[in-house]
Amino acid sequence: MISKKRFTQWIKVAFGKNVTLSDWVRIFRASLRLLLYGRASRAVWRHRLKTCIGCPLYDVTLKVCRPPERPTLGCGCYIPYLAIVRTAKCWGTQNYESFRGWKI
Ligand code: SF4
Repeated sequence: MISKKRFTQWIKVAFGKNVTLSDWVRIFRASLRLLLYGRASRAVWRHRLKTCIGCPLYDVTLKVCRPPERPTLGCGCYIPYLAIVRTAKCWGTQNYESFRGWKI
């Protein structure tokens, strides 16, 4: 799940030009939840990634939950890492009742 290539991509996203202090707060909280509650299974991780890849909010280039043309939508998270966190939630599912994001 964590490779040198993904870590390099994450660095580009985490230190990107549109990253705000609140994004860093979310990164910190996700890291803390990973330490406290552990990782999702590989099957769950794959399911989440597949769902995100089909989501209109997913930015394929950066692998983030935020379309480049609509920076107010999505959580801005780097999906391969967000999907690792067992207790992580899909931004769309949390914000829109009928959204077809991941629920596990
Ligand atoms: S809204 Fe949910 S399904 Fe869509 S990219 Fe974000 S986390 Fe993935």
